[in-house]
Amino acid sequence: LQAYCRQITGCIKHGACTRERKSLKMCGIVGYIGTRQAPAICLAGLRRLEYRGYDSAGIAVVTDDGRLDLRKVVGKLDVMAETLESQPLIGSLGIGHTRWATHGKPSVENSHPHLSCDGKVAVVHNGIIENYQELRAQLESEGHEFRSQTDTEVMAHLVEKYYDGDLREAARKAVLDLHGAFAFGIICADSPGELIAVRRFSPLVVGIGEGENYIASDMGAIRAETDKVYVIGDDELCKITAAGVEITDLQLAPIEREVYELSLIHIS
Ligand code: GLU
Repeated sequence: LQAYCRQITGCIKHGACTRERKSLKMCGIVGYIGTRQAPAICLAGLRRLEYRGYDSAGIAVVTDDGRLDLRKVVGKLDVMAETLESQPLIGSLGIGHTRWATHGKPSVENSHPHLSCDGKVAVVHNGIIENYQELRAQLESEGHEFRSQTDTEVMAHLVEKYYDGDLREAARKAVLDLHGAFAFGIICADSPGELIAVRRFSPLVVGIGEGENYIASDMGAIRAETDKVYVIGDDELCKITAAGVEITDLQLAPIEREVYELSLIHIS
């Protein structure tokens, strides 16, 4: 089972396999930064995560003219594919999500990505934020307006609160406020050159391309794109650009991670 977890989910923690296995039932995250169109890559990756189960889906991009745009649907990825056909999303930085609802019913407003009040920050999340009620109350008292019943939405507002031109720093500060389990993909219209990812307990890998990079809940999701990944550990923060990946701890100390190469035997 441990070998299975390592291959499929990226779990590298001894004893974490039961938890990792449970989280297989929760959701999928796929993100892309590069020069190709992100939505098609996110959609194809999410299809490879369908085995986890989900009730709704969404994709957000930063457009070439620096806006955040998104599509969200209840139901299957085929509905998302049809939506993208009739209302195309254009952007080479994007994050996608399939949701397995834990907080708030399956609905368009509860599906991910979740946005900040100003609509510039988008967040996808796998896991459960245990202290979301107190964070939400605090953020509402500071004037933030919530649109969903999810635990996840606090993260979009926390990043907005802490954002001062540096998306990684905002994400880092936000994560320090959280208790619980999470893998996040985060983008911001005002930081069009970076994709931020961070995890605690929920699985996350970073796929390495040439002039393009990826994030995913498991290696299989991006296997068609690359056979090289970084397996991200708990409380590790990733700043991903088209040109490279910086992994740090939550104090921003650099982490040297060896590249994990998927062998041919894993091609399906
Ligand atoms: N807790 C979050 C929600 O209910 C994320 C669930 C998931 O991992 O899909 O939206």
